Amino acid sequence: MQTRTSRFDALAAAKGWKSASNGQTNGKAAAKPTPMDIEKIFGELTFGLAEMKARLPKQAFDRLLETIEGGRALDGSVADAVALAMKEWATERGATHFTHWFQPLTGLTAEKHDSFITPNEGGGATAEFSGKDLIQGEPDASSFPSGGVRATFEARGYTAWDPTSPAFIVEGASGPFLSIPTAFASWTGEALDVKLPLLRSMVALDEQTRRAQQLFGDVPERVTATLGPEQEFFLVDEEFYFRRPDLVTTGRTLFGAKPPRGQELEDHYFGSIPERVLSFMMDVERELYRLGVPIKTRHNEVAPGQYEMAPIYENANLAADHQQLMMLLLRRKARDYGMVALLHEKPFFGVNGSGKHLNWSFGTRDRNLLEPGETPHDNLEFLFFVTAVLKAVERHQDLMRLGVAYAGNDHRLGANEAPPAIISAFLGDQLTDIFDQIERLGTANSSKAGGLLGLGVPVLPHLPKHAGDRNRTSPFAFTGNKFEFRALGGSQSISFPATVLNTIVAESIDDMCTALEKELGDGVELNVALRHVIAAEVPNFKRIIFNGDGYSPEWHEEAERRGLLNVPGSLDAFEAFGDEKNVALFEKYRVLSEREMESRHEVAVDQYFKTVNIEGETTADIAATMVLPAAVRYLSDLTDAAARAKSVGAGAAGVLDTLQSLSGLIDELRERLDALVAQNAELGGDEIPSKARHMRDNVIPAMSAVRDVVDRLEKVVPDDLWPLPTYRDMLFVK
Ligand code: ADP
Ligand code: MG
Repeated sequence: MQTRTSRFDALAAAKGWKSASNGQTNGKAAAKPTPMDIEKIFGELTFGLAEMKARLPKQAFDRLLETIEGGRALDGSVADAVALAMKEWATERGATHFTHWFQPLTGLTAEKHDSFITPNEGGGATAEFSGKDLIQGEPDASSFPSGGVRATFEARGYTAWDPTSPAFIVEGASGPFLSIPTAFASWTGEALDVKLPLLRSMVALDEQTRRAQQLFGDVPERVTATLGPEQEFFLVDEEFYFRRPDLVTTGRTLFGAKPPRGQELEDHYFGSIPERVLSFMMDVERELYRLGVPIKTRHNEVAPGQYEMAPIYENANLAADHQQLMMLLLRRKARDYGMVALLHEKPFFGVNGSGKHLNWSFGTRDRNLLEPGETPHDNLEFLFFVTAVLKAVERHQDLMRLGVAYAGNDHRLGANEAPPAIISAFLGDQLTDIFDQIERLGTANSSKAGGLLGLGVPVLPHLPKHAGDRNRTSPFAFTGNKFEFRALGGSQSISFPATVLNTIVAESIDDMCTALEKELGDGVELNVALRHVIAAEVPNFKRIIFNGDGYSPEWHEEAERRGLLNVPGSLDAFEAFGDEKNVALFEKYRVLSEREMESRHEVAVDQYFKTVNIEGETTADIAATMVLPAAVRYLSDLTDAAARAKSVGAGAAGVLDTLQSLSGLIDELRERLDALVAQNAELGGDEIPSKARHMRDNVIPAMSAVRDVVDRLEKVVPDDLWPLPTYRDMLFVK
């Protein structure tokens, strides 16, 4: 719904540009949004509990519910009934095909469509879908990354129905199809995806937490990890996007001088949302509601052109599936509005990047176990669980770092806008004080109160003051009743970081339960025993608590003094996959086998190599075929101008100076470009790990060197000769 002139249209009118995206847009003018009735449309595209209940025989529904809500093993005999009901539901909505939807190690989603069609004897056809079709699929898996788990000659991979995440309908441009969330594994049962380990880690956390509940004398109830991911992204006019081969092929700009007006003014953050963007967001929200995704907030983010949307938290598995759907819809829908959604964590150098804050907690159906209550100091169960989290983070800083490691995120972490590559935890005043008391006295006697916030104006309400302020610079912050893992990048799947959190916390709870059991076995009273167990951990985890400014250089020094891990680059962070401590941990809780860890290690290194390799090639291409020719054209203009000036007897000193410095820049570019081309060609050996190191050590510096001179050229070559839309052009979407 482009009711207003887009930024591109305005610039095109001024500069005489033609459309670059001819025929490549969705070609679908977005419909004028109709008012929506959330209650009516929410979940209408999902085969959720209400639909199942209405359509399944009671017995089958009850069995299924035990699996979905109780976590019990799936009763295979219900599959046929579910398949029949699901097919009827889907075909009533016009679906002709179904797909097993899965999340391979690319971090994206994959699907292979099959028709419901079965020819019958009369030469006609019927729509059929059996329990077997529902439960198991066999995509030709040979070209998904598996890190050698599944050699291509034994390419069998299976998808297995995940009954805990509802099937849904995707409305493609030419018709709807049924999409069934599945896990993806090799024929030997090894996970080839990100869902399976996440589900396994949820089981581990559930088991250990139930054990703790039992020791506390509570009735153990099923515990699930909960996730609420906040998605940041940029929007650019698609016309600009198609003029930037770097954005198209790598998702980020490989060139671009910083605009004179960046985010310094801070006028964009939480500013009013531009009309076109708002229409787009509402459209995305409507589709997400229909898919049962509880999107809650939307606002402008810090950088110009940057936005954020976030759902209400859900159980980790559902939240991870929903997060994938959200990324998908952001990408798809933007095109209907003549825009492209950039989810890359660092699309514009020198401008704020896009993170994905992952809010994480765990709890029973109606109790969040990280909820402190009014008097956290004597809420021993709460303190027990928070202690377990801090103990886990302290022990496994390397895994937390690994959870957010990939080439794209290297541009963000530690770059003074995102949390540093050092893992620490923010607790806020109240909790820090409580743990101080516990450390000094073995127990805590008081909680610093939040109190009320007086606003100084009688007619305004008094607001309850949070007991802890926010701290945007911490990678892992306690924010009232959950932890917020802030180091994730915008394009990342949340599954693996959540898998890490669930597993390391399960281990801590396990250890602390063992300690508690021992105390109780020695006849110590429960509350006293709990205090002992908690107090024993404080000195160990204390060093990861940091409430100050994580961006400051002082923190880096302080962290080093404390012996905290600081791994700035993802290639080094990947080493954690092979660490004995980590292999033992993941094996113990049956989340990942050693072989699965190895395969993930291989895939991560391979993806790193490929990402940087493509960037290196693209940088060289653009510099050689777009930037250099533009600079030479300008040089030729200047040469002509100088000659003409001379011919009329003018001195033309200014023209000659400009010509000289431009000529110098062109020499520099040529030289650096040759160096980059040489590094690109070299590849650094036959093995992927050595190629990846070559990318990091040689290609990235060579790329930066080219970029540096190109960005200087951008400041001198005339706008009408410059071949790429600039940051100034792109960043202010209207
Ligand atoms: P704020 O951080 O501004 O206080 P919220 O408390 O609403 O805002 O939380 C922001 C994000 O954290 C939302 O996605 C929200 O759903 C999520 N969140 C809230 N509680 C939990 C929880 N128990 N587990 C996981 N995520 C949560
Ligand atoms: Mg944010």
